Amino acid sequence: MALFSQKNNDPMRLPVYLDYNATTPVDPRVLETMLPWFTEQFGNAASRTHLYGWTAEEAVATARKQLAKLVHVTPKEVVFTSGATEANNLAIKGVFEKKSHVGKHIITVATEHKAVLDTCHHLEQLGAEITYLVPAADGLITPQQVAEVLRSDTILVSVMYANNEIGVIQPIRDIAEVAHQAGALFHTDATQAVGKLPIDMPLEGIDLLSLSAHKLYGPKGIGALIVRSGVEIASQMDGGGHERGRRSGTLNVPGIVGLGKACEIAQKEMKSETARLAELRNHLESEILSKVPDTFVNGTTPHRLSHLTNICFENVDGENLLLSLRDVAVSTGSACTSASVLPSYVLKILGLTDDQAYASLRMSLGRFTTEEEITFAIHHIVEVVEKMRG
Ligand SMILES: *Cc1c(COP(=O)(O)O)cnc(C)c1O
Repeated sequence: MALFSQKNNDPMRLPVYLDYNATTPVDPRVLETMLPWFTEQFGNAASRTHLYGWTAEEAVATARKQLAKLVHVTPKEVVFTSGATEANNLAIKGVFEKKSHVGKHIITVATEHKAVLDTCHHLEQLGAEITYLVPAADGLITPQQVAEVLRSDTILVSVMYANNEIGVIQPIRDIAEVAHQAGALFHTDATQAVGKLPIDMPLEGIDLLSLSAHKLYGPKGIGALIVRSGVEIASQMDGGGHERGRRSGTLNVPGIVGLGKACEIAQKEMKSETARLAELRNHLESEILSKVPDTFVNGTTPHRLSHLTNICFENVDGENLLLSLRDVAVSTGSACTSASVLPSYVLKILGLTDDQAYASLRMSLGRFTTEEEITFAIHHIVEVVEKMRG
């Protein structure tokens, strides 16, 4: 693991990576499993006439099983996509297109990922009516909030499982139940939750679930939408009718093999990894909160992913803060939308001012984060903020 080693006295060292929610490195075990599928085993999984195709198809079937097992569904309910952005588009547009004759109302949350929000904005141009629920200051929405806005023409409720910026975990099971009582389907963008939290789609009443490999130590450019049997969606990509007609396009066999392996590893190691990262995160968070005055955590702390903290440093210039933190790779409460840097809309919805949002740091830990890196990060962050405040 030389790539990830950190030597504090090495001038060429890389910043400590604390941005696992943006993307994760590919686990070397995943990479190893993927490699043969680029070269010797290069077949097209849709080639039914020879061994090259059959072998590729078999590898895809194995990966489909590995993914299905992680979320407790059957392999035929898995639709491979290019990632979670595409999965969210397919779920929401796919349901709308299929069901707009019975209703055009969709409920979602204002703190969703842009892949959900922008898809909803697009559908508004096509006649959809969207309700954007606003969470409380802790980032959570309640099933009652959903119940209050459900209508007889509501076709879909889409609520993310865990938020990418603040990590809050929504009460998915109760929200799905409320949606079903009103006859609506339930979709969740579970990109930040898959492989981190135990998910049981049938038990939790989830009809559609989006995920992405590069957030769980798999490669970029591959993900999936899980579509429970009986749930109908209109395909958004026309072509050869791959994935049971739900998503055409030649399958990304190495990517799919990698996603499957990443799911297998996540399932085996989830419990121990979560415990280890919770301990490191809690240490990082409590040290910063106790050593730096005028700091607070954004979002609820009890219902939260255990590998992440989002801390606001009051009365600190956010831009300077990020520029000064050269030795840690973190993300701030800003989002680069086209050319301009805007304060995070998620933090603004929680009630933060622009300045507070800019001066918030999201630190997300992962599989290769070490105790030494956390000790170093605490020291560095405390020092930088002290200096900035004079
Ligand atoms: C990263 C992310 C996405 C986008 O996934 P891609 O595979 O990069 O398209 C969508 N939703 C959430 C919550 C994410 O964290």
